[in-house]
Amino acid sequence: MSARTRAAIARIEREAKAVDSLDPGTTHAALQTYRRFLAGPGRYRYTPLSDCSCPDCELEDVAVARDRIQQVLERLPRRPRRELAALVAPLDRQLERRTLPDPFAHLHPYRSRRPWWGRRLTGP
Ligand SMILES: [Zn+2]
Repeated sequence: MSARTRAAIARIEREAKAVDSLDPGTTHAALQTYRRFLAGPGRYRYTPLSDCSCPDCELEDVAVARDRIQQVLERLPRRPRRELAALVAPLDRQLERRTLPDPFAHLHPYRSRRPWWGRRLTGP
């Protein structure tokens, strides 16, 4: 990632409000969670649900990590956004390939409103 994009991300993290759950380093940690999840064994993976909703544990949940990346993408200026999006696109393709859609997600009041990565089968 270019220094310019890293700086743009750092600015967004610094200026984010508490309600956004973005802190300095959140994007980096979220990308680590995403890569770690995809590096795990098995043809198919379940997206784990974190038991604890504190910011650190929450970021261990690949779907939450992807949420944070999305929040940053939506705030980035065009060029750094393109760079981060290009980095995330292959991860998204892998996630889509290696997880399965939860056929009952639409029945769940919260999950039904989630983006596709929040509507995958969850498990241990
Ligand atoms: Zn916790």
